[in-house]
Amino acid sequence: MANRITRRDLLKQASTLALTPLAINSEKWTTINYNYGSKPSAVVVGAGAFGGWTALYLLREGYDVTLFDTWGPGNARASSGGETRLVRSMYGDKRVYLDLARRALTLWKENEAQFDQQLFYPTGLLIFCQMEHYDYAEQARPLYEEAQMPLEWLAPDEIARRFPLVRTDDLHHAVYDPSAGFVLAREACTQVVKQLTREGGTFQQTQVLPGDTQSEQLNGVSLADGSTITADRYVFANGPWLGEAFPELLQDKLRVTRQPVYMFGSPSQFSATSKESQLPTWMNRDLANQERHYGVPGNDYRGFKIGYAPADAKPFDPTNDHRLVQPEEVEQTRALLAYRFPFMKDAPLLESRVCQHTDTFDKHFIMDRHPDLQNTWILGGGAGHAFKHAPALGELAAQLITDQKDVPSLFSFQRFSSTNGFTRQHH
Ligand SMILES: Cc1cc2nc3c(=O)[nH]c(=O)nc-3n(C[C@H](O)[C@H](O)[C@H](O)COP(=O)(O)OP(=O)(O)OC[C@H]3O[C@@H](n4cnc5c(N)ncnc54)[C@H](O)[C@@H]3O)c2cc1C
Repeated sequence: MANRITRRDLLKQASTLALTPLAINSEKWTTINYNYGSKPSAVVVGAGAFGGWTALYLLREGYDVTLFDTWGPGNARASSGGETRLVRSMYGDKRVYLDLARRALTLWKENEAQFDQQLFYPTGLLIFCQMEHYDYAEQARPLYEEAQMPLEWLAPDEIARRFPLVRTDDLHHAVYDPSAGFVLAREACTQVVKQLTREGGTFQQTQVLPGDTQSEQLNGVSLADGSTITADRYVFANGPWLGEAFPELLQDKLRVTRQPVYMFGSPSQFSATSKESQLPTWMNRDLANQERHYGVPGNDYRGFKIGYAPADAKPFDPTNDHRLVQPEEVEQTRALLAYRFPFMKDAPLLESRVCQHTDTFDKHFIMDRHPDLQNTWILGGGAGHAFKHAPALGELAAQLITDQKDVPSLFSFQRFSSTNGFTRQHH
């Protein structure tokens, strides 16, 4: 039978140990560093973009927090793994994302000072537009103006003047966002967990599954060693594994797809320390073909990153599927890269990885209470765009969980009541 560690057990042991925080160590029980004072407690599952930052901000809201992850923060299977993620505030007319992204920019900077580690790199972002009208940027323009953030429309000759490594002959224009850039991905996840433990929270690497339920409450979570722990609030931020944790609720609401990323090696005269790293991050938005690729040139001497999200991305099993890319995918992607950046035409592939998106039908996140469990929250559906917002998502989630804010309708379960129908949306 599973060992159940409740707050009452912890208090009983505290009277003999008189220690704070309490460390329980036995052959069968997992080591749990658990504060047992009058603070409310929270268990957070998943140390990715959603879970790690939520754990940190719940701790800062005064909760005793224990964060769990099967394979560790920003691990090689996680959607938050890998080197970098693009940062932008441009989200068409969706003010909720602009506000989140702007808040996140402030919080990235605030937190990196505490972590003593640079995470955000303000390189700017160039969006290449083949068509005259790119609605997404045009809709964002008044929001940027209101926020007093610059956004520039560049004609091809101006692009060529400012960014001579970019090919422009097929472009109608580019949109340049100087406030954008990139953040370090797995490094940020690791730093968040380090900071959590520095501030008094606990991290443990183990798989955690939801336990029994009763009267609209989750009674605890089970650890891989068979023990169970209880808390006042449970937060599940399992990324692409959310559907496995709550199959009845989520399996038809989330879709997990394969997303390859490539690192190509630039010629030595354009190495990461010279011209390559002076390029901004970039996205190609040819809406006519639903063609989408993006890149981060030259971070940390890893090469020139390009991600290519094909319109027909395949379903992906995040636990068991191999993360290999096919030679024809490499060639197709290199052709895209070489077209826009001719100096990369003979670039060899240095590394590749396969990540996965977890999409809802409308590509908006889920950040809501479990519809049947009052003490349980679900965070995820980050698709290809959650990472940039991560600190702001953590802050918002902590405010939702502590009842300081209402769930934004865009992120609610309520919106699934009429449809789960998946279509390709533009974010
Ligand atoms: C190729 C690619 C490019 C992207 N580009 C961008 C970009 O440029 N900009 C941007 O903003 N976003 C981008 N994204 C999206 C962003 O990275 C994701 O939305 C975000 O990282 C998702 O975070 P998450 O916390 O939901 O999931 P994850 O990072 O997967 O975290 C979930 C964690 O839960 C753990 N876990 C799962 N089940 C259990 C369990 N039962 N017990 C314990 N632990 C468990 C896992 O080990 C994992 O670490 C990109 C994503 C990909 C894949």
